[in-house]
Amino acid sequence: MTHITVLSGGVGGARFLRGVRAWARQTHPDGAGGSTAHITAIVNTGDDMWLTGLRITPDLDSIMYTLAGANDEERGWGRVGETERVSGELKAYGVGWPWFTLGDLDIGTHLARTHFLRSGMSLSAATERILQRWDIGVRLLPMTDDEVETHVVSDIDGTEMHFQEWWTRHRASIPAREFRQLDVERSTPAPGVLDAIAAADVVLVAPSNPVVSIGTILGIPGIRAALAATSAPVVGVSPIINGSVVRGMADACLQTIGVATAADSVAVHYGSRAAGGLLDAWLIDEADAAVASHVEAAGIATTVVPLWMRDVPTAKQLAADAMDAATRVRSL
Ligand code: GDP
Ligand code: CA
Repeated sequence: MTHITVLSGGVGGARFLRGVRAWARQTHPDGAGGSTAHITAIVNTGDDMWLTGLRITPDLDSIMYTLAGANDEERGWGRVGETERVSGELKAYGVGWPWFTLGDLDIGTHLARTHFLRSGMSLSAATERILQRWDIGVRLLPMTDDEVETHVVSDIDGTEMHFQEWWTRHRASIPAREFRQLDVERSTPAPGVLDAIAAADVVLVAPSNPVVSIGTILGIPGIRAALAATSAPVVGVSPIINGSVVRGMADACLQTIGVATAADSVAVHYGSRAAGGLLDAWLIDEADAAVASHVEAAGIATTVVPLWMRDVPTAKQLAADAMDAATRVRSL
């Protein structure tokens, strides 16, 4: 299992990837503190946006900062030791979104990214260039180089807003009728994405938001077909523990698409690969052991293990459990 491909959103995905990397370093050491295993993350870019002239890519940056150890562990997002002087200035000018504060260090990243994009680079090339600074040991691929932003249609008056406005400004409190991926039909997977799926020894679906993180990745034309065709087992980790989201407001997203906030419901929503869906295997928490039979009945091999990623060791154990589940799928 030396080529590991992970579908990932931001914070939940980042915590999981930190565990996968720790597992790889332990089981496939390269003798220099790294790993001979190749980890590729295919990352949601539906949350991306242009703001005050800058291209912001929240999920790519959450992963990058977390894996670099530069994240604010306490707050749960952004850079550690962050200040907000530039955002204060922008607010004084009435520029940008007053409810969306960008940290000063973070703005440095956005300036660099925007510079690379303006000089003609694709997002994937700009991401690779930015990662030269941070030795994270994981290849990060945006799901697409095209701008496919997620919009939310309000169920109250049918108005449409950027996902970020719904999520950050309204804290997902406006009932959503629908999530829309703007221009998705014209988009293509970023270079390397389809290859990373086809050449993988195992594909892991991180415990990320099933709708606006994993769902947006699956919405890019070609990605679902690649996942259906790969010879690698596809193993997912439930982002739902004991009927609730561990962090964040993913329940509001699930409600919109008519899926219950439950470990078995999300698995059934993803579907069994044998029946045209996504998953060969699914990991659920011990608190959800009672619903394992529902997942099995949907044709998905189910493993019951602790799913709380409290720290790197617990995330590493979760990665090990996912790899074990992949091995069992292979030997079937
Ligand atoms: P976002 O893009 O920052 O919203 O992050 P993701 O989409 O990657 O992940 C968000 C999801 O991660 C949330 O809906 C949580 O349910 C899930 N999550 C966060 N922490 C944990 C954890 O420790 N264990 C599990 N199983 N899921 C988690
Ligand atoms: Ca996100």
